[in-house]
Amino acid sequence: MNTMTEHGHLYAVSLGPGDPGLVTLRARRVLEEVDTIWYPATQRPDGGTTSVALEILRDIGLDEQKFRCIELPMSRQRDGASRVYARTWSLLLDELLHGQRVAVVSVGDAGMYSTLTPLIEHASEAGIAYSIVAGVPAFLAAGAAAGVPLVCHSDRLTVLAMAESTDEIERALDEGGTVVVMKLSTLRHELGAWLETTSAEILYAEKVGMEGEFMTSEKEELRNRTIPYFSLLICSRNGSQR
Ligand code: SAH
Repeated sequence: MNTMTEHGHLYAVSLGPGDPGLVTLRARRVLEEVDTIWYPATQRPDGGTTSVALEILRDIGLDEQKFRCIELPMSRQRDGASRVYARTWSLLLDELLHGQRVAVVSVGDAGMYSTLTPLIEHASEAGIAYSIVAGVPAFLAAGAAAGVPLVCHSDRLTVLAMAESTDEIERALDEGGTVVVMKLSTLRHELGAWLETTSAEILYAEKVGMEGEFMTSEKEELRNRTIPYFSLLICSRNGSQR
């Protein structure tokens, strides 16, 4: 991998879903080599921040002096978030123009619905060299943790994120194969009613590889569950979720 260029190099590094054992050897090596590591954190109503990425970085024992926080607004309002990205990019660009090697990290895989995609786009537009270091996305870790092969032979795999409604899940199921619903919390208000009626079999996975991990295939167990941000659903009508 080319780590030395005139203008520095940006690495979008995948951290896996939470378990430090799922950080790849390549990700770890890049994180050890770079000059700074920028991680996303979410602002809490009490003024503090939470960051799963930071927890993973701490777990793998890196030099914390290199850590830099990107504080994102909780609701991810477009205006607030794009201001943060613009400000963060100007700081990153400054480091990169000074020839530094800079990492931005993402939970799961950095190419899957990552909060840091805008920074990669900025790098591309500015002609800054960058690399994406692949990682384990949460839905694959969820299937593995449950001991469930997600798809086989010629099965179709559909991944939805921020589905508009549970109808969208049913439509995807109509196409056959396995359907993964990420960012499931956007459907939390209609999930219970849908689970009562759907014929699909499910695997619900919450905080995979993190403290508080919870997984179930029993729809009844979800009846009164708060569906947090770090949750996803894997479903199919062919019984492969059991
Ligand atoms: N880049 C990540 C996805 C980011 S989008 C990846 O590759 O997995 C954020 C969504 O991913 C969450 O809303 C949730 O649906 C899912 N997710 C990420 N980490 C998770 C985890 N540890 N357990 C369950 N779901 C997770």
